[in-house]
Amino acid sequence: MTRSLGGAELATSIRNDASVAAAALAEIGVRPKLAVVQATDDESTAWYVRSIASAAKRTGILCDIVDLGAAASTEQIRSTLVELGHDPDVHGIILQTPLPDGTDLDALREAINPAKDVDGANPVSLGRLVARLPAFAPATAQAVIALLDHHGISPHGRTAAVVGRSTVVGSPVAHLLVQRNATVTVCHRHTTDLAAGTRDADILVVAVGIPGLITADHVADGAVVIDVGTTATADGRLLGDVDAAAVDGRADALTPVPGGVGPVTTALLLNHTVDAAATQYAQTRSDSLLAGFRSSV
Ligand code: NAP
Repeated sequence: MTRSLGGAELATSIRNDASVAAAALAEIGVRPKLAVVQATDDESTAWYVRSIASAAKRTGILCDIVDLGAAASTEQIRSTLVELGHDPDVHGIILQTPLPDGTDLDALREAINPAKDVDGANPVSLGRLVARLPAFAPATAQAVIALLDHHGISPHGRTAAVVGRSTVVGSPVAHLLVQRNATVTVCHRHTTDLAAGTRDADILVVAVGIPGLITADHVADGAVVIDVGTTATADGRLLGDVDAAAVDGRADALTPVPGGVGPVTTALLLNHTVDAAATQYAQTRSDSLLAGFRSSV
């Protein structure tokens, strides 16, 4: 039988660490604050954003939901992101998708201050990640690696396949797996034989958004399968990309949907916000010490 690689325990442990760090920051007068910018009337997105806000509150992190409405223009969203980027009380910024049709998402991602880019959305963050420089990785991509680590699965020297190559999930996951010394194949919409690309992989990560795309034919015997996909149904269920019943017994391990990658992603967003607050505080202190030093010489 296939093992279930749940994310709840890991998410709790990450949130607990973030909570301890947030409390330590509060003692020196810093209240970590996350701003989530949304511009949609999609109820499942609104539900997801509210769940981040309530997890933030339980962790000792302030969270502002900046709802610009489903008719917001690129310029309105951009100027909000720039304003939040300059606000010293805001330490982390998330731009929630989907956005209104016609929105220039690339321009908006570039408008997020990289120091506050806790979901690694700005291309500067992705570039730094690929260059192996300090940066916030997209939380979902990092959650995939954190789940493997938590369950004692090392990518080192193994073969991995990633299905999906978006800049927020598939591409950064592939880079992080390479950095962990896996040999990685990336599959996408134009991959002519998907099963040929995935069925020899020791580790298979699927981030597409098509329920049931991955069946037994796509999975090697004994593979570890990480299902990132989440598709909300009209009756309120959340479906992954992997047909769990079909791969049961063939895969060694599979992440559940919901309850696998999702909770770890949210916990990492909070953890990144606390890190960002600590870094920005240290930066302000060193700037003022430097200013004091300059004025004294
Ligand atoms: P996205 O931007 O729509 O990217 C989807 C990727 O899948 C693209 O690279 C696309 O290829 C590829 N693809 C589409 N059809 C395919 C097919 N038939 N065969 C192989 N590849 C195919 O989506 P995303 O933002 O990366 O998100 C992917 C999934 O993860 C979604 O279900 C999303 O809801 C979920 N998600 C979950 C979390 C979480 O915390 N659990 C967080 C973020 C996202 P092309 O590049 O060729 O178009």
